[in-house]
Amino acid sequence: MKPIPYGKQEITASDIQAVTSVLTSDYLTQGPNIKAFEDAFAAYIGARYAVAVSNGTAALHLAAMAVDVKPGDKVITTPITFAASANCVRYCGGEVVFADIDPNTYLLDINKVRALLEQHPQNTFKGIIPVDFAGYPVDMEAFRKLADEYGLWIIEDACHAPGAWFTDSKGVKQIAGNGVYADLAIYSFHPVKHIAAGEGGMITTNDEKLYKKLLTLRTHGITRNQDDFSNTLAVAAGIPGLETGAFPGWYMEMQDLGFNYRLTDFQAALGLSQLQRADEGLARRIAIARAYDEAFQHNSNVEIQQLQLKSRGFEHAYHLYVIKVADRLGLYNYLRENNIYAQVHYFPTHLMPYYREQGWNPGDFPLAEAYYGQCLSLPMYPALTTAEQQFVIDKINQFLISR
Ligand SMILES: *Cc1c(COP(=O)(O)O)cnc(C)c1O
Repeated sequence: MKPIPYGKQEITASDIQAVTSVLTSDYLTQGPNIKAFEDAFAAYIGARYAVAVSNGTAALHLAAMAVDVKPGDKVITTPITFAASANCVRYCGGEVVFADIDPNTYLLDINKVRALLEQHPQNTFKGIIPVDFAGYPVDMEAFRKLADEYGLWIIEDACHAPGAWFTDSKGVKQIAGNGVYADLAIYSFHPVKHIAAGEGGMITTNDEKLYKKLLTLRTHGITRNQDDFSNTLAVAAGIPGLETGAFPGWYMEMQDLGFNYRLTDFQAALGLSQLQRADEGLARRIAIARAYDEAFQHNSNVEIQQLQLKSRGFEHAYHLYVIKVADRLGLYNYLRENNIYAQVHYFPTHLMPYYREQGWNPGDFPLAEAYYGQCLSLPMYPALTTAEQQFVIDKINQFLISR
């Protein structure tokens, strides 16, 4: 049997066709596929605006810049996430403050965040970065309510959750990242994520001002749009070439210190092509999750994610299917011997040497650390066959019985 990874992309003939047709077109970067991908993605998520960038980390960085994270600003996030969710705050000189997870959902615990806010003077914190961990949507309505009490912004790290949704208290279906509750949401198109573009990222928002800021930050802080120019023609009159009384065609302004975080047009074409199959892929992920649920929900040696939004309606996007077992290292090694490459998500960010240097220590977040001690992400991707999944389940059961 072929090696079975925890996650993997799927590339079809139409994906290849989409990419190769860009290679022979006039634009390799910032061509028509960028806007087409942004528009289609915004429509898929139900957000007003989307900005494509070079990767999910760049999306987080620009999002942090757009909400104006400044040196010393304190921002709250979860220790159980990819490091980039926290790092974006550090890129802007801000300070990361972690809060512990809910031991049932493995997501940032809103009660821990509330306690943190209550323990400090008003205006201590500037924002929250909740993560739709594993693909389970954060109850963003509750986070928005809390954030509003303290005047905080919210950046939703939705990298695991394109297509996930929850039902709010008014009975309205809210797709993760649709901009109704969070100010900004970000996604990644790394090959293990739902939509693969090689590398790539997206930021969604309903806020036009943030949207415009993101567009210029993505490309060096430069604008070519006359309506947005800061220099008036009167100011510009002393500048050679601008004395004609009109801005010449070449004129542009760098108004902010931005970056080159552009996505190439052929990556956008791949992302757009993959997006056409997003619903299919999500349905397959959910079917795989149901089969794992079936196999493990009554097994007392295995703990699965408890989905507390159950009483309302919701959809989990299943970037990951996480189980907790007592002998995680034993199971991990046993599966590897059988060509199954399960993975651990995540080593708690506060225990990374970089964050240890910022003052965080073992014991700071007991629930996150206990979770990390037992978690294992099982193979989860649309191309995983039923036979392969059964093989994975059988091997796990064999291991657990042998203990
Ligand atoms: C993948 C991921 C990122 C970063 O995305 P890249 O495209 O790899 O830079 C950020 N946050 C989370 C939760 C992720 O899973």
